[in-house]
Amino acid sequence: MNDHFRYRQDELYAEQVPLGLIARRFGTPCYVYSRAALESAFHEFDQALAAHEHLLCYAVKANPNLAILNLFARLGAGFDIVSGGELQRVLAAGGAAEKVVFSGVGKREDEMRQALEAGILCFNVESAAELDRLNQVAGGLGQIAPVSLRVNPDVDAKTHPYISTGLKQSKFGVAYSEALALYRKAAGMAHLRVTGIDCHIGSQLTEVGPFIAAAEKVLALVDRLAAEGIALEHFDFGGGLGICYDDETPPSIAEYARALLHALSGRSEKLIVEPGRVLVGNAGVLLTRVEYLKQGEEKNFAIVDAAMNDLMRPALYEAYHQILPVQLAHPLQPVPGGRGGERDKQSLIFEVVGPVCESGDFLGHARELGVVAGDVLAVMSAGAYGMSMSSNYNTRPRAAEVMVDGEQTHLIRERETLEQLYATEKIIT
Ligand SMILES: *Cc1c(COP(=O)(O)O)cnc(C)c1O
Repeated sequence: MNDHFRYRQDELYAEQVPLGLIARRFGTPCYVYSRAALESAFHEFDQALAAHEHLLCYAVKANPNLAILNLFARLGAGFDIVSGGELQRVLAAGGAAEKVVFSGVGKREDEMRQALEAGILCFNVESAAELDRLNQVAGGLGQIAPVSLRVNPDVDAKTHPYISTGLKQSKFGVAYSEALALYRKAAGMAHLRVTGIDCHIGSQLTEVGPFIAAAEKVLALVDRLAAEGIALEHFDFGGGLGICYDDETPPSIAEYARALLHALSGRSEKLIVEPGRVLVGNAGVLLTRVEYLKQGEEKNFAIVDAAMNDLMRPALYEAYHQILPVQLAHPLQPVPGGRGGERDKQSLIFEVVGPVCESGDFLGHARELGVVAGDVLAVMSAGAYGMSMSSNYNTRPRAAEVMVDGEQTHLIRERETLEQLYATEKIIT
């Protein structure tokens, strides 16, 4: 829980709006975001870096809803994209192409052309083959492509292996030992202009140490490049700062920024950062309704109407999300016809599971909850990599998305209809 999602008396609110009301009005499952939470996270990050020239490039993949991109664009954000689709979203949301950096190991030619034509700030190149391709594509358009190399500093991010990206065996970035040679190559290419250096070592980092180690290694490379006459204009430090889902104690934005600015002190390169999760993760919840309570042979199940297709993180990473009842049970109220003094909602240990046909389809293990069928639950800290990783598995329309702003509620994405799910499919004769 945080300032923007909290109980008033017995009911959980987003800002000034009761979440139960949102569930009734828009149905479940439904993602709910707090505008104030999004904006305050952005301001906090931006202000923490104020002492050094910087650009905050929100990592679109964390949550690409146009309303969210638009809020950040209005605050002056740049964007970190990983596909041509994300670039188109950014532009549709009012973002500025000249503040976009393009990351990812597999950029297609058409995506490179699209980004060159839009006039993005920088390509974060991840291999020698990509340098060749970009040089060719830029040449074909009569353009010069601005590039950084994403360097792999070989630092252990100490996070889940699936979201650890800075180790030698990772598919991301170019090896530290090869970076100098590749920079020389890039500097000699006719249709490229070397402008910066980039790294991103992983996601959901909960310690500041790996960040410092990565920054020091990459900045040492910047100095060696300068000594060879390759002067860089910017240092892109990626994203990765973790949030609290359970009992983690990630560095605060201020601590992270302080460490980064310390590593950069006395240097003139502009700083780019690509935060995703830390800006949106705790600004969103997923509302879901309990369909059934079921007593298994060994466990109690709360079967809810959200599933792994709506929120994949528990199934994918065994990630923990706090699960709270939107309406707290009233303790010790006699149930009409029941035994006197009985609780109307017995608190039990539940497996909170969805309807999808996979045993990995769970939202939470062993949660103590006082709920009955029909109650609404809030899956907390679901603003990052929730909706953006959702799918239509089991022909389940994706959830609605709602933005709360003070007392106001805006539907920012309609629930998908079933017809939309198969509208482009064809039966053959
Ligand atoms: C995913 C990603 C980010 C954002 O990571 P967070 O952990 O959400 O901050 C930033 N940069 C790159 C290159 C990424 O792949």
